[in-house]
Amino acid sequence: MDVIQAAKKIINQKSLEGNDDAFYVMNLEDVKIKYEHWVEKIPRVMPYYAVKCNDDEEVLKLLRDLGTGFDCASKKEILQMLSLNVDSNKIIYAHTVKQISHLKLSAEKGIKKVTFDSEAELYKIKEFHPNSKVVLRIRFDASNSIINLGTKFGCNPITEAPKLIELCKELKINLFGIAFHVGSGTTDFGVYERALDAVRKLFDYAETMDIKMKFVDIGGGFIGKDLSIFDDYAKSINAGIERNFPSSDIEIISEPGRYFVDSAFSVVSQVILKKHHEDGQIYYYLNESIYMSFLIAHLYKEQLEFSIIRASEPEKEPKDKLSTVWGCTCNSRDKIIADRLIPELQMGDWIVFHNMGAYTTTVSTAFNGFQNLNIFGSADL
Ligand SMILES: *Cc1c(COP(=O)(O)O)cnc(C)c1O
Repeated sequence: MDVIQAAKKIINQKSLEGNDDAFYVMNLEDVKIKYEHWVEKIPRVMPYYAVKCNDDEEVLKLLRDLGTGFDCASKKEILQMLSLNVDSNKIIYAHTVKQISHLKLSAEKGIKKVTFDSEAELYKIKEFHPNSKVVLRIRFDASNSIINLGTKFGCNPITEAPKLIELCKELKINLFGIAFHVGSGTTDFGVYERALDAVRKLFDYAETMDIKMKFVDIGGGFIGKDLSIFDDYAKSINAGIERNFPSSDIEIISEPGRYFVDSAFSVVSQVILKKHHEDGQIYYYLNESIYMSFLIAHLYKEQLEFSIIRASEPEKEPKDKLSTVWGCTCNSRDKIIADRLIPELQMGDWIVFHNMGAYTTTVSTAFNGFQNLNIFGSADL
């Protein structure tokens, strides 16, 4: 069943119950297809799914059963994964700045792999998690990405990383490997290969100090909307691995977030009011918001893709009209689509927004008393 058919069925079921809330349609099969594609294309790289991207329990359980690991960044995410019986070896605490109580928890729970990118964090780890396997995060930015992470995280691989490697030696901390994150959502495919070259140099430098690292973490960044571009990532990653880490003694992981979930979720939202504004545009008001599922899309100015489900079939083909689509909160910046030509809609129609699985459910707020949406999967159909 495609997403439009599924959405129509749910709309009908809900209307019988008098429920007109917006909702998600989730397709777990899509997550599974992504996993199988990953294993086929980059078999050397074990994915550790980034929980912050979408922490839906069914998604997490599916990935657990498929055998992925998990990237957690807080106490709550760690406890969530442990409660799903994920082995502590399959968790990486991949936040380079850890609150002490969270770091202590990771030590107590046997989560050994932790990342860092500064001296101060290394001293903290030495004190509160001395038996960890530390992973040094370097900065290696893609030339383009939706979310650049390098401005906040990662040390300079040339000027700072060697000093931090020396400090590990001095503090007798187990330096396990190197991590990077090129930025979330990139089409600079070659960046992975270049980053792996930089990681190799640090492996070589560490070896001059008798430190034998065993682990490379290539981070996330992979766009998940369009599976056909995955070959381009794979080519770059496989070339980087073959040249720099041909031996299978080196464990290679990745922390994909959006790749697994983006296309698996759609948001289905209703037009609750239509207004012809004096500025000549049509204003539509939805029961969704930039304070809910559209927060990240709004912050990073992502173009939304959508389809329409009409409450009743129009007599003739609706014309494109200059329109603004507003969110449901009382805030006037709550604009989901601004000044765009879209086919004319009527009150009661539904808009299905595609590729809404990444950074949507986990960032949605309860502002103005609007709640997180229900998620419908195949079991509900
Ligand atoms: C957010 C994040 C990820 C996931 O990134 P995607 O671009 O969604 O793949 C992975 N690792 C770290 C450290 C992150 O902060």
